[in-house]
Formats: sequence, C-alpha cells, structure tokens
Amino acid sequence: MSFLCLRGLEKTYPDGTRAVGGIDLECGEGEFVVLLGPSGCGKTTTLRMVAGLETPTAGCIEVGGGEITSLPPGARDVGFVFQFYALYPHLRVRENVEFPLACMGVKKADRRQRASEVLQRLGLNSLAELLPEQLSGGDQQRVALARAMVRRPRLYLMDEPLGTLDVELRLELRELIRAQQLETGVTTLYVTHDQEEAMSLADRVVVMEGGLIRQQGPPDQVYDRPADLFVAHFIGSPGMNFIAGQVRAGRFAGEGWSLPLAQVFPDGPATLGVRPEYLRLDPEGPLRGRVAMDEYLGACRYLYLDTPAGRLAVRVEGEGGRAVGEEVGLSAEMGRVRLFDPATGRGR
Ligand code: ATP
Repeated sequence: MSFLCLRGLEKTYPDGTRAVGGIDLECGEGEFVVLLGPSGCGKTTTLRMVAGLETPTAGCIEVGGGEITSLPPGARDVGFVFQFYALYPHLRVRENVEFPLACMGVKKADRRQRASEVLQRLGLNSLAELLPEQLSGGDQQRVALARAMVRRPRLYLMDEPLGTLDVELRLELRELIRAQQLETGVTTLYVTHDQEEAMSLADRVVVMEGGLIRQQGPPDQVYDRPADLFVAHFIGSPGMNFIAGQVRAGRFAGEGWSLPLAQVFPDGPATLGVRPEYLRLDPEGPLRGRVAMDEYLGACRYLYLDTPAGRLAVRVEGEGGRAVGEEVGLSAEMGRVRLFDPATGRGR
C-alpha cells in the first residue's frame, strides 16, 4: 500500500519555467525513495512541494491516505534536511537537536534523553555544548541530521544532505542515514544528482529529466534494464555504450561486422546498448577498434576505443594497459545487451 502519493503533480514558476511537468509517484510505507537526475530536472521543486515550501500548480499530494496538498509546512509532520546545515547559530548543538522537540511541547527531561540518544548515535556527544560556528562543515551537517532524526515524523525529506561534504564523510553519513532509516522505518524521499549515492541508498530510484519521471524501479533494474536512452546513458559511469545498426535474422549488424542476439527481436534499425563491463577485448572479436584513451582507475581501467561503430568504453580488469593507437578486437556478452528503438529512444 502506498504511503506517499503524488498525483499529476506540476509546478510552473511565475516566470513561466515549467519545473515539474506532471508526475505520478507512489512510495510505500518505510520505503527509501531517491529522486535522481541532472541539475534542473525538477528534483528539488518536487521535494519542496511535498514539504509545503512550494505550491503546486496542479495535482495533489497524499500522505497516509490523507490529502496534504494545501497544508502549511508545520502541519505536515515531515523532517527536512537541506544541503546547507541551517542550524540556529545562537543555540548550542544539544539545544539545536532538542529544538524540534521543544516546539512539540516535549518535557525537558524527555528532550534531554532523546537528544542524548541521537547525539550518541551520530558521534556528537563531545560536541554537545559547542555553538555551530565552532564546528566543521561535516559536523554541522551531522547536527542537522541529528535534529531531523530526533523525532519520528511521518516522512523524512532530504535534499542533497551530503552535497557539500568530502568523500569520507559522505560515505560515513550515508551509512548512518540508511541505518537510521531502516531502524525507524520512516518513509524517506531523498534528492541527489549523485548516482552512486542514489544506488547505494535507495529501495527505489526515480530518474527524472526535464520535469518528468523517466523511469522508477529498484537500483539494479534501472541499471540493467534502463527504460530509454537517457536513463541508459545517465546511469553508470561511464554510461552505456550505444551502437547504431540493424537487426537482421537474429543478428545485430553494422558495416562489416555482426553480433549474434541472445533474444528474438523484429528485423529493422535499432540501437544496441552495452555497458562497458559487458564488452570484452577479444582478438577474434567481430568488432575492431583502436585505443584512443586508457583511463587507469586502480581496481580497473577503462579503454576508450575508436571503432566503426563509434567511440566505445570497455572496462578491463586485471590486465596491463594498452598503448594509444593499438588495434584490438572486441566482442560483447550478448545476454547483457539492451536494444532501443532509435526513433523513440525507448527500450525494446
Ligand atoms: P539542482 O540539482 O541543480 O538543484 P533540480 O533537479 O533540483 O536541480 P530544481 O531546483 O527543481 O531542479 O529546478 C527545476 C527548474 O526550475 C530549473 O530550470 C530551475 O532553474 C527552475 N527554478 C527553480 N526554482 C525557481 C524559481 N523560484 N523561479 C523560477 N524558476 C525556478
């Protein structure tokens, strides 16, 4: 049963910018849903409408079966964490964390107890009596998380909460956020443009572009079965390779080469999508290419090859590098490729 429902949600700003073009989204109770997409795709506007900080131009929002579309933010019972810490500068860390409880009229002793628990969990005990200005950026964001987590709202809304932090802190807080969410079971809508963050946190990833939802599903589904060329390219780093060609009698063919298809597809023009890890250097491979760039990343390397089918990225593990200009053969794991309709960009 869905807990948070967005129905036909739209937002056009007064200057005419159509930030959200009509989206339908259902989040189950306790689900961790991540809105992922490039800058300007409408993620933040969507989240702000759920928080009550923007008024939708059309559509409605329901939580727990009740409509909240026109409720003021304070009446929505949501915990909101922004990218920027937004702490009260004159309050000490402990007081910042207790603040939402004080607003709810929780008694002082209970406030202390609950704040201490969450400060402990987030490793903030030794900083409890400091003012925000005495903390590093990472610790300030940790306090902002603590302040959201000290109560159990119906919904957590998080807008790039780790955006300004360095890699190590991001990983640490990512783990904390997920652990806390699993423990409390509070339905969470989380915005990021970082696909690694999205894939590692989400029960369900919602890929947005141009104010619309392109695809939603569990991370592995979005990665393995992208709905269209946009998602296929956006997810993955580097994204999926695309090869234009023709399906003919069970094979996918270009000029002077062809690959056997593992599934039956109707004959005609198509775009073959193949992730870099499903291309293999193979001296006997039907596709020939020359190394244009060798990108060494430690655990693996990406070779960028110029082929008759265009520039292709190949992930190579446990092998030495290749000289630029070297000729190599290529084959593909055909059970892992995806075919797209070149006219619509949709997956077949
Ligand atoms: P980012 O990751 O950069 O924050 P986003 O996906 O969250 O991007 P939004 O912030 O929701 O995108 O913005 C969607 C579109 O709406 C963008 O084109 C943005 O410039 C525009 N926009 C956002 N706020 C306003 C506003 N107050 N007035 C006019 N246009 C706005």
